[in-house]
Amino acid sequence: FGMLRREDPEVAQVLLDEVERLRGGLQLVASENLASPAVIAALGSTLTNKYAEGYPGRRYYGGCEVVDRAERLAIDRAEALFGADHVNVQPHSGASANLAAYAALLRPGDTVLAMALAHGGHLTHGSPVNFSGRWFDVVAYGVRRDTETIDYDEVRDLALRHRPKMIICGAAAYPRLIDHAVFRCVADEVGAWLLVDAAHTIGLVAGGAVPSPVPYADVVTFTTHKTLRGPRGGGILCTGELAARIDRAVFPFTQSGPLMHAVAAKAVAFGEASRPEFRAYAEQVVVNSRALTGALAAQGMRPVSGGTDTHLALIDLRGLGVTGAQAERRCAEAGIILNRNAIPYDPEPPTTTSGIRVGTPCVTTQGMGVDEMEEIASLVARAVCRTGAITSVAERVTRLTRGHPAYPRG
Ligand code: PLP
Repeated sequence: FGMLRREDPEVAQVLLDEVERLRGGLQLVASENLASPAVIAALGSTLTNKYAEGYPGRRYYGGCEVVDRAERLAIDRAEALFGADHVNVQPHSGASANLAAYAALLRPGDTVLAMALAHGGHLTHGSPVNFSGRWFDVVAYGVRRDTETIDYDEVRDLALRHRPKMIICGAAAYPRLIDHAVFRCVADEVGAWLLVDAAHTIGLVAGGAVPSPVPYADVVTFTTHKTLRGPRGGGILCTGELAARIDRAVFPFTQSGPLMHAVAAKAVAFGEASRPEFRAYAEQVVVNSRALTGALAAQGMRPVSGGTDTHLALIDLRGLGVTGAQAERRCAEAGIILNRNAIPYDPEPPTTTSGIRVGTPCVTTQGMGVDEMEEIASLVARAVCRTGAITSVAERVTRLTRGHPAYPRG
């Protein structure tokens, strides 16, 4: 870092400011985490220089013997960690992993059944502004109005009516466990592929805190930077039968040169996630999430579906007369970083929303537990409802983060 400071003080300052921002606030964005110094060291390495189109032992460039070892480590560790027949560790992101999964299994114009974005799905599950909605015929299922959980009867009815070539489950803002066995049955009934997008939950799967989709899915796509706590990136697990198709869909169909520094960092993250400490971490993420959600509910902030089984909760703010956008802004003023999020059947537009999404991956990485979750809930409630001065909330946020710093000094 001393070198960067000498060579480019402006960029060095950005890096320093971002560390200070992380240290000074509470990061409740459910899709974020704090990667370890070891992961960050691998990212900031000379592996960024190397072109390595192809796969270990089958490259289109010379000089790949060393980076091959990084990719082999990543593959072997991920296959062991998830008990998968095959893994591709090259996708640049979760969206790239999904693009490759579509490319491997479908042709443009094929029908896909996926969760509506407005009910917790993801852009890549059929939004009209994304490749998925533009190039595929996407039919959306959602959650029930009464339970706010996936309507499995609707999933089956829609599958029987539209005969999709692929069914997707997995979401960006769904706090409950997904019944992969039911999705498998429906997919088998109509002869569809089952893609589980585990971008959010893969770290919880790695740590055994939620059930694995691997025994049920044909393909599992994931991100490495959310609950898994690795570098920003993606990956794909699949059955042996689909291995060659998935690999060809990543390279050469949707990507060319892999980011070998990111692949090495993924290997580090898979290694970290294989350790007993990570199992304890994943369990604590869920324990904290339940505690935070319960404490927010006690403050009059209604959790969608009544609670959570995962690292995140969706909070309906309509009872407080505050929009998601207002809550996001008010919390940020106090140093609490979270995002506005549509709730199912939201009367507000997506830029405003009636809800917020909160998650515990970062604060759990910082070593916080149930007591801190209760305090955070009361701070969120005070910021959102503007009870008392925002400065006093900000002071308590500072005290909390000093006790449990992100990236402790030294
Ligand atoms: N799939 C789901 C369910 C997600 O929540 C996300 C990201 O939030 C993605 C895919 C895309 O990941 P990325 O931002 O790495 O492209």
